[in-house]
Amino acid sequence: MSKQVMSFHYTLTNSSGESMDTSQGKEPLMFLVGEGGIIPGLEKVLVKMKTGERKKVVVPAVEAYGEFDETLIHQAPRSEVPGSDKVKVGDTFSGGHEKNTSVFTVTKVDETHITLDGNHSLAGQELTFYVEIVEVREATAEELQHGHAHSPGGHHHH
Ligand code: ZN
Repeated sequence: MSKQVMSFHYTLTNSSGESMDTSQGKEPLMFLVGEGGIIPGLEKVLVKMKTGERKKVVVPAVEAYGEFDETLIHQAPRSEVPGSDKVKVGDTFSGGHEKNTSVFTVTKVDETHITLDGNHSLAGQELTFYVEIVEVREATAEELQHGHAHSPGGHHHH
């Protein structure tokens, strides 16, 4: 079965209506349908839309970046963290296994411990997207093989 590549512009706002991110003024975001390139709650709405159509899409946390998970918060003794003298709030580390890596953000540093939070910064938040479909086209054979969309110039990152 053929698959489609969709590109769209979006503006993301949080539940307080503050703009968190936008593609306006940049290239639209592209994704290969059905490959998990974008959050599931957004994809299921976009796939029913047509070129030029605009919509407000409200995505609950569970279909966006997940509920906030307390178990992803770790307190590491300073002695176990290499270079702990230089670690500061806001620093990030990658952790986990090859196929399931997560990014841990330092949320607290005190005399004895460093607190790491593996939740996505948008976890637990309901997200509101204002979207506009820019293009819908058939995926190329190469895109299907790679499992992701390629930009018009054909170059891409892996
Ligand atoms: Zn590729």
